[in-house]
Amino acid sequence: MNICVIGAGYVGLTTAAVLAELGHEVNCIDKDKQKIEMLNNSEVPIYEPGLKEFIDKNYNHLTFTDSLDDYIKRASVVFICVGTPSSEDGSTDLSYIDSVIDELSSRINSYKTIVTKSTVPPGTNEWIYNQLLEKGVSPELFNIVSNPEFLREGSAIHDMFHADKIVVGLRSGDHRSLAVIQEVYTGINAPYVITSLNGAEMMKYAANAFLATKISFMNEIARICEAFQVDVNDVAKGIGLDPRIGPHFLQAGLGYGGSCFPKDVKSLERTALSKNIQPHILQAVQTVNETQIDIYLEKLKTLFPDFTHLKIAVLGIAFKPNTDDTRYSPAERFIRCLSQFDCEIHTYDPQAKLQNPLPANVIQKDSITSAIRDADCVIIATDWNEFKQLDWPEVRQLMKGTIIFDTRNCLDRNKIEQYGLHYVGVGRG
Ligand code: NAD
Repeated sequence: MNICVIGAGYVGLTTAAVLAELGHEVNCIDKDKQKIEMLNNSEVPIYEPGLKEFIDKNYNHLTFTDSLDDYIKRASVVFICVGTPSSEDGSTDLSYIDSVIDELSSRINSYKTIVTKSTVPPGTNEWIYNQLLEKGVSPELFNIVSNPEFLREGSAIHDMFHADKIVVGLRSGDHRSLAVIQEVYTGINAPYVITSLNGAEMMKYAANAFLATKISFMNEIARICEAFQVDVNDVAKGIGLDPRIGPHFLQAGLGYGGSCFPKDVKSLERTALSKNIQPHILQAVQTVNETQIDIYLEKLKTLFPDFTHLKIAVLGIAFKPNTDDTRYSPAERFIRCLSQFDCEIHTYDPQAKLQNPLPANVIQKDSITSAIRDADCVIIATDWNEFKQLDWPEVRQLMKGTIIFDTRNCLDRNKIEQYGLHYVGVGRG
């Protein structure tokens, strides 16, 4: 099939590479000319494990352009993968989607199945359909499908190939699009969940809100564990064995972040309020998340009543391991809060960088060793594997102080303490 993917971000690039691997001819379009230039020079503008290899492997079936003009006419399927960030009031900013509709409307000359992968609030796909009609596109020339994406950054390629489901939201009376989607995804062995446009949109928000709820729930449990000297990791392990609960997403820590959970929970809250539904749980989830960093800062203040002349190493900037994405990263927020104290902060992340402007007392280092040398305290802010597997005797030698502050509950306390280091966490007993 001939497919256009609009948006060459984490979702768009992964979608384009996977569809090319499945045997389709794919054109990936992004209005960011610099991104397109990089892609045409065989450089991948984001860090996503395995993505570059996949793009290189499928180069003959993948083209990258900054304009819809060249390829849209040939495409029978168009994937919309542009960003849907938060507006100031927390609702979803649909301006990127709006500009895509505008660009598409004047170029639809033959039948296209338009597939929205971007996360959009209930009602948006119906609105896209009506917008295209209003702009003069004949209903004979297109249909619209909601196909929300559930990949995780850091394992995006794997997640798309081994999806646990393919959600397809269809307009009532659309008897054509399901077969098109099934043809697109031939080769991916996943169950289909077929629903309405609104149903598919809602499923994506419910999934992200539920995962965020699990995280905030465990963070609240960790606060209570702290008061009773209980290890929240033991609690998570115990309750996770109950199949009704399951073992995933039970790790207490700095809170959720990234480009999806914060904006999607907020957006769902706004959606509920717009229908006069009080979203009690969604609001509590966000309150716990927003105050989680304070809990860790307070703990640090009890360890170091005076921050003057302290040198603190913070390992991790990305919002989670295996990505360079720092959007709404709790690690970055933690570093910026910490920088308000009179101390020196050395940071290191294998892939992510802090965006400018940097506070004067924050220095980005290019290795773990240079970040932790002479540090009074080492803080693990993102649970990259290389931080979990540090050479602790070497860490002990390099540091001036002895405190390892694990804000991700990802370290083995016994292993660390046998080398004269002091392990500190929240809710770790
Ligand atoms: P991103 O910001 O990484 O990429 C979006 C891209 O769209 C950018 O490169 C931007 O330049 C491009 N763009 C914007 N307007 C355009 C236009 N008119 N024409 C062409 N290109 C345009 O975003 P992302 O993280 O890939 O997310 C995309 C969507 O997928 C969002 O709705 C997000 O909520 C959803 N989603 C993201 C993830 C994730 O893990 N990142 C997972 C599932 C769903």
